[in-house]
Amino acid sequence: MFKAIIFDADGTLYNVKTKRAYSLAADFLFRKTGIPAETINMEWKKTVDEIKSSAEDAAEPQKRQRKYALEKTLLRLGVGKEKIDSLTQETLDIFWGAVIYDLEIFPEVAKTLESLAKKYVIAITSEEFRGNLILKLNRAFGDWEKYFKILITPEITGTMKPSEKYYLKAMEKLKLSPEEILVVGDSDERDLLPAKKLGIKTIKISPCEFSKLTEIIPTIGR
Ligand SMILES: [Mg+2]
Repeated sequence: MFKAIIFDADGTLYNVKTKRAYSLAADFLFRKTGIPAETINMEWKKTVDEIKSSAEDAAEPQKRQRKYALEKTLLRLGVGKEKIDSLTQETLDIFWGAVIYDLEIFPEVAKTLESLAKKYVIAITSEEFRGNLILKLNRAFGDWEKYFKILITPEITGTMKPSEKYYLKAMEKLKLSPEEILVVGDSDERDLLPAKKLGIKTIKISPCEFSKLTEIIPTIGR
C-alpha cells in the first residue's frame, strides 16, 4: 500500500510555455541595448544548449539558473559589465512574469489532487528552483499547500535531474521506503528511470490525462 505520491511538476502538473517569455525578454533587451532581438534569442539559446550539453555544468544547479545563462549571453554580446546585473534582473522579471501568466493549467489536475490528498501524502520533486516553483504552484493551484506537503528542489539535492537524489531526499523527509511511494512524472529519463533504479513504482502521465490517475493507481498495487 502506497503512503505517498511524488509528482514531477513541469509537464506533469501543468505545461510550461516559454515562447512568449523569450520573445518579450529579447524585445526588452533590444530596447535597452540596440542588439537585435533575434541575435539575442539565438545567442541565449546557444548558451543554454552549451550549458546543458556540458556534463559538468548540466548537473550544477547554479549554472542551470536562467540568471547564469543570461549573464553569460549578455557578456558574449558585448554588453558592458556594469549594466549586466540590473539588465539581467529586469529581463528575468519580464521573462518569469510571462512564464507564470502563460502556464497551461488543467482544472482536472486540482480535482484529482484533491481526492488523492485524502489518501496519500503528496510531495513534489522538481528541478525548478524553489521560488519559481512556488510562483507556478500559486498560479496553478492557489492554496497549493493543501495538496503538497514537501517540495524537493535543486537547493535541497545540490544537483539536477535525472538524479536519484530527488527521491532519496524525498524518502528521507517522508520517512518512507521505496515500496511505500509512487512516482508520477512525464519523463522516462528524468523522472521514471531514477525512481525505478531505487525500486520505486512509477506512472507516466501528462496534465491533460491526469484524471486517469484515480483509476490507474489502484491497479499498481502489490
Ligand atoms: Mg517534467
